[in-house]
Amino acid sequence: MEVCVLASGSKGNCIYVAGGGTALLVDAGLSAREIASRMQMAGLVPECLEAVLFTHDHVDHYGGIEVFRRKYPVRLFANEGTAAGIELGCPKLDSEWEIFETASTFEIGGLRIEAFTVPHDAADPVGFVFDDGGTRLCVVTDLGQATPLICAKLATCHAAILECNHDYDMLMQSERPWPLKTRIAGRSGHLSNDDAASLMRTSLSERLHTLFLAHLSEECNTPSLALNTMRQALRAAGREDVRIEVMSQTQVSARLVF
Ligand SMILES: [Zn+2]
Ligand SMILES: [Zn+2]
Repeated sequence: MEVCVLASGSKGNCIYVAGGGTALLVDAGLSAREIASRMQMAGLVPECLEAVLFTHDHVDHYGGIEVFRRKYPVRLFANEGTAAGIELGCPKLDSEWEIFETASTFEIGGLRIEAFTVPHDAADPVGFVFDDGGTRLCVVTDLGQATPLICAKLATCHAAILECNHDYDMLMQSERPWPLKTRIAGRSGHLSNDDAASLMRTSLSERLHTLFLAHLSEECNTPSLALNTMRQALRAAGREDVRIEVMSQTQVSARLVF
């Protein structure tokens, strides 16, 4: 399986995943031009993509799809609530949706995909597990809190892309209006560094070898705070061997193959 995070954060999310002979994007929250140029930077071309899968109907996860779909005829996958929300935001999106159930497993080529519910203030938000028969990758960003289901999914995976949105103190000390602070820190908002670290402690399995920290707030977090919080948690659990990479809004990640 191969993974490249093209962008991660509240200004746009897009993740390239390939396995079992299938290449796809999770979310398309950058402009079409930006998706194509970041793929090129990573040595990839949009023509290789079979599909785009959507986690939820917030614009930082679908904003570029209307134009992108016009240029590249990818298949579009989402659950019903997310597809309806994206259609409202993209009235000119010209495509037949391939609708999956929120708690279901489906296949695109040789890639098996498990969708599962996450608590977040969107129509019907999901996380995904991708399985190519050898490796399991969990993608879970935009979640207000850990749930037993999310822990169970993470515990089966070799690699994970997990939200570490904010440092709680930085969020509370920020200039943001109070309702926004409570939304972000709430149960349907975003995961803090501490929340993400305790989620990983609960769901840490022997097989986990790579962890991507994602959807970092640019105002209320720093890469080193997120990294150190997670490192400490994994060290306390005796797992200094896990590779941890911090994802960025502006930089394309390395292409990791595992
Ligand atoms: Zn988001
Ligand atoms: Zn969101």
